Amino acid sequence: MIATDSIVATVSFYIDGVWEQPQGRDTQAVTNPATERRIADVPFAVAADVHRAVRAAHNAFQKWREVPVVDRVQVLYRFKTLLDAHAAEVAAILTRENGKTLDDAKAEVRRMIQMVEVACGMPSLMMGDSLNDIAAGIDCKTIRQPIGVCAGITPFNFPAMVPLWMYPFAIACGNTFVLKPSEKVPLTPTRVVELLHEAGLPPGVLNLIHGGKEAVDALLLHPLVRAVSFVGSTPVAKYIYSTAAAEGKRVQALGGAKNHLVVMPDADMGKTVEAIIGSAFGAAGERCLAGSVLVPVGDSADLLLRLLVARARSLAVGDGSQTGVEMGPLVTSDHCHRVRGYVEKGVAEGATPLLDGRQFTAGDGFFLGPTIFDHVTPDMAIAREEIFGPVLSVMRVKTLDEAIELVNRSPFGNATSIFTNDGKAAREYSSRIEVGMVGVNVGVAAPMAFFPFAGWKNSFFGDLHAHGKDAISFYTEQKVIMSRWF
Ligand code: NAD
Repeated sequence: MIATDSIVATVSFYIDGVWEQPQGRDTQAVTNPATERRIADVPFAVAADVHRAVRAAHNAFQKWREVPVVDRVQVLYRFKTLLDAHAAEVAAILTRENGKTLDDAKAEVRRMIQMVEVACGMPSLMMGDSLNDIAAGIDCKTIRQPIGVCAGITPFNFPAMVPLWMYPFAIACGNTFVLKPSEKVPLTPTRVVELLHEAGLPPGVLNLIHGGKEAVDALLLHPLVRAVSFVGSTPVAKYIYSTAAAEGKRVQALGGAKNHLVVMPDADMGKTVEAIIGSAFGAAGERCLAGSVLVPVGDSADLLLRLLVARARSLAVGDGSQTGVEMGPLVTSDHCHRVRGYVEKGVAEGATPLLDGRQFTAGDGFFLGPTIFDHVTPDMAIAREEIFGPVLSVMRVKTLDEAIELVNRSPFGNATSIFTNDGKAAREYSSRIEVGMVGVNVGVAAPMAFFPFAGWKNSFFGDLHAHGKDAISFYTEQKVIMSRWF
């Protein structure tokens, strides 16, 4: 179980309804990125651990699928009540291991709970179709049935919300589940699973293991795992998709991003600047929906950049657990070095730094201040690659057509936003842009739990998106039944 005070805890596995402290496994330190203090050790599951977790899920499946869906969701109703009661505690754990501000963490926890709320509607969501007399005296109906053991592999940046894009929907549909969350932030998902345990989920329906590549590979290759949901970086998403699909599994693999924010000259500049600040620097840029390239159209650039740089300069950077802090640290020392490396590359490649986050200094912690580069060209690494930090590249264009062409040339297609007061421009942009999630005067185009979530191109591998109605299609198999009675 997790200690939320300063004692270093070892994170547990949860297999077949039992909390385990595995002995003799490799461990990795979990660090508070704002203080660099070690707060826990996470054990790395070996293939045998994965096998036990999958076995437990497989054994639980036969019984769980037969529990009527109205009874299955009773567990989720109790889970939601517990999550509401423990929301502040879960948010504090999240800030402590991930670094995002407490306000951001609370917002994430709220979104996490909404996943459970939507999954509670499964009796209606799982319904099939029917038509009588498809031929004389013959009736036809479709039913949706669970598929079996499903696996989820999740990233570090939303340790509360992203695992719940998956398992509430999967288990409400009658499946059983094995979760392998990010080894960088294992405390939040573990605390949430403790609450699900307390809600009375039968043993084996959800199992939790920790670790890295060895655990993931064992899940991908396990013959009893029928479906894999993944969220993380593009190279790993591609690997997960190709490996699991080659094993005959159903896969949804959400990958990385390089999101463009297009600003038309007629946009409301004050509101647009606030939206860009939230999009580019919220959660220190560690969001798959973060705005990473700013595309001012025509003569919008000069005023926009003046206001933006002034606002970014005033952002309160610090320990996210402290009141008033607007941007926290990056998640790990390695990641912080990587993002700083991109700032160095931007300077070396000739972009103009309007604001250099390296000038921000704190005592301890993996900090980088907000960074804005002007006159970025398409060949530069900061224009093309996912940075996943508080670095905004500005690429000026003359027309909306040019902006659309620029965005559509990106190999990624996760999210984008346009800022304008012109409905026709917004409509045209939304229609022609090759991106999965589009915001109009919205900086972070994040679909809610009842809509599907995923990008296009290198931001997504698979067919059915996360949550919304797609989740029900992903976690069920359809059957068509035709009947005639003599
Ligand atoms: P990551 O790809 O490094 O890790 C994600 C998961 O994959 C973790 O559980 C990790 O243990 C596992 N993993 C890492 N390397 C692996 C390997 N070689 N083989 C098998 N498994 C491996 O991603 P991250 O750094 O934790 O998260 C940030 C990334 O996630 C960013 O690229 C971000 O854009 C992306 N992301 C995408 C979305 C989306 O909706 N598209 C949402 C959140 C995050």
